[in-house]
Amino acid sequence: MSDTDRDESRPAAPGDIPDEDRGRKRPRNAAGCKASVCKNKRNLGQEYVSRSTRKVTKKREIGNPCRDGCFAKLGIQVIKDIFTGFWEMGDFNMQNCYLQNLCETLPVKRKRTKQAVSRRSLSRRFSVVHNNVTTKVCRGAFVAIHGLSIKRVVNAITKLTHTSTPLLDRRGRHEPANKIKDHSLQQYSVQISASHHNGVLEKAGLHNCLEMNRENAMCVARTGGEPSTSE
Ligand SMILES: [Zn+2]
Repeated sequence: MSDTDRDESRPAAPGDIPDEDRGRKRPRNAAGCKASVCKNKRNLGQEYVSRSTRKVTKKREIGNPCRDGCFAKLGIQVIKDIFTGFWEMGDFNMQNCYLQNLCETLPVKRKRTKQAVSRRSLSRRFSVVHNNVTTKVCRGAFVAIHGLSIKRVVNAITKLTHTSTPLLDRRGRHEPANKIKDHSLQQYSVQISASHHNGVLEKAGLHNCLEMNRENAMCVARTGGEPSTSE
């Protein structure tokens, strides 16, 4: 008998897993899942539909020129190159590093109020680079050239540790509140194995036993009660 359950009459499809890696459970296709497709589109500045709110976010575009001539200083082709280069990165962390690199934080040069303390705690200087030429631009032009909001830029440039190393994107990486810790899962699993030793588990195949054990252990861990005894 073949070591796989795949129908031999069916030709191998491009997405098929090699026979030696095949198990009973379909492995997760992380790159092709809907959430990943959505995330990639967002990071590439393309139009996407929110998975939770169904809201359509339009594709990113270069913003309106500032009033102090930064766009004229650079020229539209340079602006288009910078915009395209930024969104082609397609990676939130890399984009943040790029933004951090182009923003300089300086002490406030001149206090403009009569109060003892200035309204602002620091000043920021923005610049863009094209063909190794660095050009200073205003904040409005900087966000418009990259098609970003000021919030995204401020978030990116403040996401640094105390030693100025970038903090990685932590969205979607928290542990679920109801996740069962591995050690308690093992502990319950052992208890259930013992209590089922001469019972239903002998009737079922090994795989089913393990699956049943896991499900029961999770049930016990959640409710703190007795495991369900299925037939
Ligand atoms: Zn400007």
